[in-house]
Amino acid sequence: MPEQAFKTFFADAPKPEFVEVALPIPLRQTFTYSIPVGMREVIEIGSRVLVPFGSRYLTGYAVILHETLSEELEIEESAVKEIAELLDDEPLITKEILGLTQWAADYYASSWGEVLKASLPAGINATVEEIVNINSRGQDELTKTETSKTVKLQILNFLNKNGETALRELKKKFGAGKTMRAVKSLLLLDFIYKFSRTITSKVKPKRRKAVRLLPIENHKPNAKKLTETHQKIIDFLIEFDGEILFTDLIEKADVGASPINTLAKYGFVEVFVKEVFRDPLSEAKIPEIQDLILTDQQKQVLSQINSALDVGKYKGFLLHGVTGSGKTEVYIRAMKSVLNKGKSALMLVPEIALTPVFSKRLRAVFGDEVAILHSSLSTGERFDEWRRIRKGDARVVIGTRSAVFAPLKNLGLIVVDEEHDTSYRQHEMPFYNGRDVAIVRANFADAVVILGSATPALESFHNSHIGKYDYLTLPNRVGNRPLATAEIIDMREVFKEAGKDLIFSPALEDAIQETHGRGEQSIILLNRRGFSQFVLCRSCGETIKCNNCDITLTYHKREQNLVCHYCNHREKVPHKCPECESKFLYFMGEGTEQIENLLQRKFSELRIARVDRDTTRRKHEMENVLSAFSDKKLDMLVGTQMLAKGHDFPNVTLVGVISVDTGLSLPDFRSAERTFQLLTQVAGRAGRGSLPGRVLIQTYYPEHYALKHSKTQNYDEFYEQEIAFREKLHYPPFVALSSILIKHPNYNYAHDNAQILRSALDAANTEKQCIILGPAPASLPRLKGEHRLQILIKSRNRNHLRETIDFALAEAEAKFCDLKIIYVEIDPINLL
Ligand code: ADP
Ligand code: ZN
Ligand code: ZN
Repeated sequence: MPEQAFKTFFADAPKPEFVEVALPIPLRQTFTYSIPVGMREVIEIGSRVLVPFGSRYLTGYAVILHETLSEELEIEESAVKEIAELLDDEPLITKEILGLTQWAADYYASSWGEVLKASLPAGINATVEEIVNINSRGQDELTKTETSKTVKLQILNFLNKNGETALRELKKKFGAGKTMRAVKSLLLLDFIYKFSRTITSKVKPKRRKAVRLLPIENHKPNAKKLTETHQKIIDFLIEFDGEILFTDLIEKADVGASPINTLAKYGFVEVFVKEVFRDPLSEAKIPEIQDLILTDQQKQVLSQINSALDVGKYKGFLLHGVTGSGKTEVYIRAMKSVLNKGKSALMLVPEIALTPVFSKRLRAVFGDEVAILHSSLSTGERFDEWRRIRKGDARVVIGTRSAVFAPLKNLGLIVVDEEHDTSYRQHEMPFYNGRDVAIVRANFADAVVILGSATPALESFHNSHIGKYDYLTLPNRVGNRPLATAEIIDMREVFKEAGKDLIFSPALEDAIQETHGRGEQSIILLNRRGFSQFVLCRSCGETIKCNNCDITLTYHKREQNLVCHYCNHREKVPHKCPECESKFLYFMGEGTEQIENLLQRKFSELRIARVDRDTTRRKHEMENVLSAFSDKKLDMLVGTQMLAKGHDFPNVTLVGVISVDTGLSLPDFRSAERTFQLLTQVAGRAGRGSLPGRVLIQTYYPEHYALKHSKTQNYDEFYEQEIAFREKLHYPPFVALSSILIKHPNYNYAHDNAQILRSALDAANTEKQCIILGPAPASLPRLKGEHRLQILIKSRNRNHLRETIDFALAEAEAKFCDLKIIYVEIDPINLL
């Protein structure tokens, strides 16, 4: 039965009177509201609603409808407030995404509303503005007084002249505190009235004027003979299939607006308003598609994926392919098969670096069917891409972390490229891992998921061992190009020989010179941005630290500032030590900016560019540098781990690693894994073309197993050693891990709350199935002005871990623990 008929037929069926609303606030519950009579027929779950909450209005999401208030809700009807506004006629959130976000909120112990908010494009949420205006009593009052000395009278006068005014405007004009006091008193005196108005959305669909040809029967009989210009316009329209944007017509046909309007008057054309989609690739050069012949290994892998796609049930694959083994081509072919089956495909990529290259390639293959979602799009572009997906116009989505929630229908395949990458993890509330949500989404949707990497996360490799994923491998590079050999340079030896610390070993300098001499390119990696790592006083030994974070500040030469890499605090470089006033300040520990300067001085003929978070902040900056490098307009790139990711530059034959030693000494059980991954990935940038590549790694810890195995880039050997370490010391994947941070500007307050929570955790951990550590100062004990205490919880049984935490939080709250300062992270990937 069609839906409309169905509704009429059951017109007497009970209508929902109450709705459960998920709000984007850090509380793990939904809230019950009543539905006003006129809204009961139209409200659907997945729609956004505006609701009163405390003294404010919030945009929430309707997630469950109730016919009546059942006992289980444990709520008095009189306490239930009414929805203020229904913001969507059609639900914005699909049932599938509702289910997925609910799962994610539950798994990550987060607020459903916060996950839902994170799943939608930014700028879509409604905001509410408070408006005030004078009433007749206020106007009477004005006639009685002549002066306008007080703020109250000034505001009354202002409202009398200007009418309805946003409170925000008044605050700007009269000062926030003064306005609030005056308005409060004017309300009490009943001289003014106040109400709220919704501003539905900061982003709006973009509309443009367009022109289209009309059929003969529309032509007016009184039409005059067409001039040459008129004919030119019509020819143009025919060339563009009968429709073109107004401005494009004027520009391309080189005509004025008036002949177009004349044609419209006589019914030859119509000028109308058209909704256009902002296209993030409108200015991109789309590459030619090459029709590659798959290698035997690629064919083998693809046929296994295709069989799973034919079955149409959930299946997980780990595609372990060395760098340059042609994984991307496999993804593209698999996505094509999915489209041919009438289904849709989603591909997740790590932050920024990969997207421009990949998205252009996908646009070349899939045309308008591909939509792109990532953080460097403008809000408008992202909104439009999201709507194209929601409408079903785009069936292939490529995007970063939050694209895992893209509202694709009929999903057949999810690809997670570089699945080990830490940027899949959201580092703020709601904490979630895009890769793990992708697996669950595929499972719910009966889709196939492919996790691809040259250096799989230890957990993923382990999962493939225990049969959770099917293991696929591409062990060789395309064309059997050899992996570049890595040479470890022991910097202690270099020190002995030179009698002092050198930044560049002679071997690396020679290699740079030789590479350049052959007209080939090089990449130099260092995992620290800025100019100097810290500023040290040689007299008293103090380093200059951030006031908010207790972390040494990094010197950035170009902007002449000391910068905190954690909170972005900036300050001028002092002339003398703030502690002892000595003038002997030294800049220690080279950062990328200094390395770039030094290299430029040593090799003045090289064209060098730097790639790190400082140089890529501007839109398209990264794209421009990478494409200049690709076009051989640059000889060398110097940068941070951004350079290690996914790029394919066939002319690069040298990769030099200045140092990764800081990464190894971080107090995190994953530091060896990270270092191994970074080195293997960056080594993978060398020798991707027909020329053999070299990788030189400088280090003071050559014996470390992460370095030893990077030399051979032998993942399996590294895995054996690392997994043994994890098992012995009870780390993931052998235990489920949770980190709870307690953060507050006042140390004692944080400490007291942490103690209450610890006791509650002990009480909940009755069967001693969890190991609980802490509270102890976190590795970064003070950050952004807050003290940070950490409790770690491990358990071999995930359910136990979650039950213990949930039970303890409820218990702690009953003991007046302040849950607002407590941040629970499930499966943290970073313990700093
Ligand atoms: P990965 O993602 O595994 O590092 P890519 O997919 O970037 O590898 O492939 C590496 C290079 O090999 C690319 O330049 C790609 O165009 C090329 N390539 C991939 N498959 C083939 C093939 N079957 N024949 C020829 N070249 C290929
Ligand atoms: Zn000093
Ligand atoms: Zn700071």
